Formats: sequence, structure tokens, C-alpha cells
Amino acid sequence: VKIAALAGGVGGARLCHGLYQVSPERLSVVVNTGDDFRLHGLTLCPDFDTVLYTLAGWADPVQGWGVAGDTWNCWNQLQKLGGESWFRLGDQDLATHLYRSQRLAEGARLTQICQELSVRAGLSCALLPMADQPVPTRLRLPRGWVEFQDYFVRAQHQEAVLECRYEGANVVPPTPEVVAALSAADRIVLAPSNPFLSLRPILSLQGMADVWRACPARRVAVSPMIGSQAVKGPLAALLQSHGHPVNSLGIAQLLWEWADVLIIDEGDRELAAPIEALGLKVELAPTLMKDAPDRRRLAEVALRA
Ligand code: GDP
Ligand code: CA
Repeated sequence: VKIAALAGGVGGARLCHGLYQVSPERLSVVVNTGDDFRLHGLTLCPDFDTVLYTLAGWADPVQGWGVAGDTWNCWNQLQKLGGESWFRLGDQDLATHLYRSQRLAEGARLTQICQELSVRAGLSCALLPMADQPVPTRLRLPRGWVEFQDYFVRAQHQEAVLECRYEGANVVPPTPEVVAALSAADRIVLAPSNPFLSLRPILSLQGMADVWRACPARRVAVSPMIGSQAVKGPLAALLQSHGHPVNSLGIAQLLWEWADVLIIDEGDRELAAPIEALGLKVELAPTLMKDAPDRRRLAEVALRA
């Protein structure tokens, strides 16, 4: 069985780690690049790096991003020098950004660079950035339009998001590798990533709707909402500000056209009927992934559903 998964950062990486445990060779992960940005003259791909580090077993288990046990010498020194220090970069993490930026300067495609990084990390699956050209997410807050990281990291996602825009998605297609992986898949898994900030940037790419319609795969989504809470991040507030119910029904309203099945938390049984009324099949499962076995179990549900 060939599997293609769509993922953002932490939530996406967790389920993809489960899929990787089940099927390390026949997995392709399509990763959101809407969060990518430039800092210190370097190109950062935060969601890709989170997926890379998680699958490689390098990720910090507590915060979910960055390299476990990383040191902060460079970042501390940068602070002393008065450099931009609102985005914390660990020393080992920095090596990834140096490598990527150097290769981009040499003219390599982002897809190629991502493949080099995943091979060097010892991974046997394909980690695919959704696009080679930038498609930056921009957000409209009460104070106006801002860059994604300005909202997410610099301001700690405390402000209301009134609108999301994926700049250039109407003209930038998914890469040929992404189209091939989706077209060849027997099963497409939409990981429990933030639909507004991680999945929609991928699904909004030019021509993606047609690629999607032509895919023979069964498409299974896993909800990132448990009860009325997101496991982490600003998803609950985003559902609220966009007028959706703040639970898995809200996720279903966002994804029903893109999925056949939605896996929701076993505690949310009462949402099954209203979600099925949207035309999605519902599967109940424990959806909180605290450790590697939890990830694997949920992945197995997603591959059976
Ligand atoms: P980000 O780039 O790190 O924000 O990554 P994602 O968009 O991939 O993930 C954020 C989403 O992951 C949040 O909405 C969380 O609710 C969800 N999430 C994180 N951990 C878990 C988990 O263990 N189970 C489920 N179901 N969702 C999770
Ligand atoms: Ca992200």
C-alpha cells in the first residue's frame, strides 16, 4: 500500500511518525511550506524541519520542534550583539538552515535539498515540500496584514486572525513529485494539522483541486481537535473567528470536500451524526499522541479506516 500524507508541523509530524513506523518505505509526506521565511539571510522551513527531526528521532519531545538537547550558543551571542533574536535558533538546528540556504544559493530546487536532508538523516520515506517556489501565508489581524511568523512566533499567536491568504497559491503548482506521490497513493492521510495554517496552504496550490479529484486513493483525515480544545496552538481561536463550531464538526466543515473519512476523538461521539450529515464517514479513536506507540496506533487506524 502506497501512502501519501499531508502535514504541517508538530501535529502533522506526530502522526507521520506513526505512519513511518508502520511503513517506512512506502510513505511520502507532503509538507506545508507556507510558514517558510528568511532570517539572518537564511531560508527557514519550520514545518519541514519539524517533520524531518520528528521522523529522524531528533526532535525535542517536549516542545515538539527543534533538536533535542540542542545548545543555544549562537543565539545567545546573537542577542549580545543586538541581532534579531525573537526566533530562537538552536546550534544544531542552525546547521540545517545553513545547509539549505547554501544549496538554494547554488541553484538547487527545494525538493532536491529536502531529499538530501532526509537521506542524511537516515530516512527511507520521501519528505516533499509542497512547492519549490515560496507561497507565504499572510494573515489579516485587527492591526492589518502580517507575515505568518510575525503573528505566530513574534506575537505568540495572541491576536485574532480575521483572514488567511496563501500568497501566490493561485499561480504556484504543487511539485511534480507531490503530484506523482498523490496520484500513486492508495491512501491519502490528512494529518491532524491546523487546516487554516498547514493543510489549506497545500490544498490551495494551483491545480491541486484537479489533482485531488483524479486521485484514486481513499482520503482519511485525522482531527486536530479534542473536545473544544486544540492539542496545541491557535486552532480553536481560528475556528471561532471564522464562524465554525470549535470542535471536530468545525474541522469537518473545512475538510469535507477533501476527505472521505474523518477520525475524531473517542470522547467526541456526539459529533459523529452531524459530521456524517456532511457526507464524511466518521471513525472514533483515541487521537491524543503522547508517545511513539500512540502515534503508531493512530496511524494504524488511519490506514484501516
Ligand atoms: P504547527 O506548524 O506546529 O502548528 O503544526 P500543525 O499544523 O501540524 O499542528 C498543529 C495542530 O496539531 C494543532 O491544531 C493541534 O491540535 C494538533 N495536534 C498536536 N498534537 C496532537 C495530537 O497528539 N493529536 C491530535 N489529534 N492533534 C494534535
Ligand atoms: Ca507550522
